[in-house]
Amino acid sequence: MVDRCVLKQMTAPIDCSAQFKRNRQQTWWATRVWCLVEAIAILALFLGPRGNEATFSEGQFTFQLVCVVVMMISGLATILATRKYYICPRCDEVPGRSGVSLFPYVCPNCGATLM
Ligand SMILES: [Zn+2]
Repeated sequence: MVDRCVLKQMTAPIDCSAQFKRNRQQTWWATRVWCLVEAIAILALFLGPRGNEATFSEGQFTFQLVCVVVMMISGLATILATRKYYICPRCDEVPGRSGVSLFPYVCPNCGATLM
């Protein structure tokens, strides 16, 4: 069975950098609201009401719990949008070995020029 990446390399070359630029822009449009929501939740969590064990109220606990849940949801949405849109046009994989490369010159998975 031929690997899909190798199969795409054998076909006619495509302009990966132009398509990857469009993928990056699409990723930014898909994740920017979630990034903003996450930043607001983080700020609210650390700048919001605080108290020690004696003065910590149920309302403060609920507020902090909501902040953490919003952070988790927005983080998950950002990850899913990145995995959907921030992909190499040749191999359809997210550029990066153990994470996401923000400025990949070449795709570490298939070697396509991305920038
Ligand atoms: Zn690739």
